[in-house]
Amino acid sequence: MQSLWNDKEAAKCRNDLELRVYTSRLLGRDKTLVLHGGGNTSVKLVQKNLFGADENVLYIKGSGWDLETIEAAGFSPVQLDYLLRLAQLQELSDTQMVNELATHMLRASAPAPSIETILHACLPHKFVDHTHADALLAVTNAPEGERRIREIYGDTVVIIPYVMPGFDLARLCAREYPRQATAATTGMVLLNHGIFSFGDSARQSYERMIELVSRAENYLKAQGAWQIPMASGTPARIDMLRQAQLRHSVSAAAGAPMIMATHADEQTLAFARRADVATLSQHGPVTPDHVIRTKRLPMLGADVDAYARGYQAYFGEHAAHAKEPKTMLDPAPRIALDADFGLAAAGRSAKDAAIVAELYRHSMQVMQRAQALGGYRALPARDLFEVEYWDLEQAKLRKGGAPPLYSGEIALVTGAASGIGKACVAALLARGAAVVGLDVNAAVESLHQRQDFLGLRCDLTDERAITLALERAVIAYGGVDMLILNAGIFAASRRISELTAEEWRKVMAINLDANLVLLRLCHPLLKLAPKGGRVVVIGSKNVPAPGPGAAAYSASKAALNQLARVAALEWGADGIRINSVHPNAVFDTAIWTEEVLAQRAKQYGLSVDQYRTNNVLRTEVRSRDVAELAAEMCGPLFAKTTGAQVPVDGGNDRVI
Ligand SMILES: [Zn+2]
Repeated sequence: MQSLWNDKEAAKCRNDLELRVYTSRLLGRDKTLVLHGGGNTSVKLVQKNLFGADENVLYIKGSGWDLETIEAAGFSPVQLDYLLRLAQLQELSDTQMVNELATHMLRASAPAPSIETILHACLPHKFVDHTHADALLAVTNAPEGERRIREIYGDTVVIIPYVMPGFDLARLCAREYPRQATAATTGMVLLNHGIFSFGDSARQSYERMIELVSRAENYLKAQGAWQIPMASGTPARIDMLRQAQLRHSVSAAAGAPMIMATHADEQTLAFARRADVATLSQHGPVTPDHVIRTKRLPMLGADVDAYARGYQAYFGEHAAHAKEPKTMLDPAPRIALDADFGLAAAGRSAKDAAIVAELYRHSMQVMQRAQALGGYRALPARDLFEVEYWDLEQAKLRKGGAPPLYSGEIALVTGAASGIGKACVAALLARGAAVVGLDVNAAVESLHQRQDFLGLRCDLTDERAITLALERAVIAYGGVDMLILNAGIFAASRRISELTAEEWRKVMAINLDANLVLLRLCHPLLKLAPKGGRVVVIGSKNVPAPGPGAAAYSASKAALNQLARVAALEWGADGIRINSVHPNAVFDTAIWTEEVLAQRAKQYGLSVDQYRTNNVLRTEVRSRDVAELAAEMCGPLFAKTTGAQVPVDGGNDRVI
């Protein structure tokens, strides 16, 4: 493990707090040290208060901040002397502790200080760094973990047995540190949890962390426990419908739609195909705070009901011994392991599912290395239950606001790179859906850089290309719940007397035939949508009111309209709703080139400006107006509606 300290970068820091930010980010950059909000850092400073007196202040990482991207504002300033007094108390509940921390901050807008604040306060060093380093966890979670730690570190670390993070752990450390510390002490190991380093400067504390963790890595190498087996040549066997079925079952157990990402690569396949996976994976997480995201155990195979029953039994057993009544979390698995597909990770959003997968990737390494040391072991279930059902997490649960409308759901939008399609992507993302955008234009691939968007270049006239795109959608998110059929072309104005069969067929191929294939291929996925499948067809005013010179377009949209109505009849029994919107004169789209616009205006004997707002309401209809309606048609307002056609055209006297 290398120190990432850089003199030039560090020289830009003007004070100790900025140096604290700098080395915190260095820790955060190395994922084998710190993952997703894990770990915390602090610095003790002396500051003048408003009355000119010196005050000791602990700046500690606030909750909601990630070390990789933390800023000075992410550190909460807490009165250090008060924290040291708190540490003297015999007892302090977690709820009281959180209250005391919040009421002794020096900046009202600061985030809630870390749960490990009092522990940081008790360590007599200016800078304190804490991580859940992979290498350290592999050693402490192996047989005779404590002896191994002693062998690696001698008297350079203080060793603390496992105690749940919070006031009791802080008190234990406050008592043990002075007892065990020597002149050589540079760190503190919390068995089955993580490691602390400390120092007089940001650099010293950071580099001690690197040095301490490197020693654990070197130990693993020397013990032949470093190299992790990779999967042999046999490729993954991924069946799109099986994955969608699995996500359906996981969502049913969770009581809400879930995103499920499949990760079939060398690392996950090797782990899922280990001969001992049924035991190795069933001990528990490598450090307790993972339990909140990954649950205690992954599911082996696809029997979600059996998993849920096991979870209910675990809850029942441990909740009975809890001091306060507990509310059971959903019993659905977050990780599934399978020899065919490797690993599937579930979460209420694409971001959550990605975090779950990343935590488990590191866990697989730790477990395999500990196994190579003689056998991976985790904390007893009751300790993990205590963290999973910690009072403050339960309180968060009770407070938690309503999730976004389409949280955990997946929408597929065609023609997503521009115009109405692009606006539909935005409208659905804004409502919490994960969105797969298809377009023949490669620009779709870079439309959004975010976990919940997948842009795929796809020629919709190629059935094979659509199949591949759907497979990628299912691998990324687990299914397709909403389908927005938007892609279409509008050829230049042409009278029937001059319309060639070739031009006609080209319009039909995209506006009509491609949608038949999409509907057919998506049908089994829509049937598995946790809240019922929805299809929205972006039709056209030309369906009820065709225009001269637009025969191919009008005919294709009218045929698509009938196709949608028949689908509404056929798929109602599957709980799938199909509704259409008929926009008119939406000019901020790709098909409305200046040329087409001028041609159409002329057709009606109007200027371009008159043509733009040529409707009953004299209003301009924009892509966003159509997209918002399409997005709402997938929601509860239209829950009892199928086969409907809604104009979004400012009112058209030929339609009304
Ligand atoms: Zn920790």
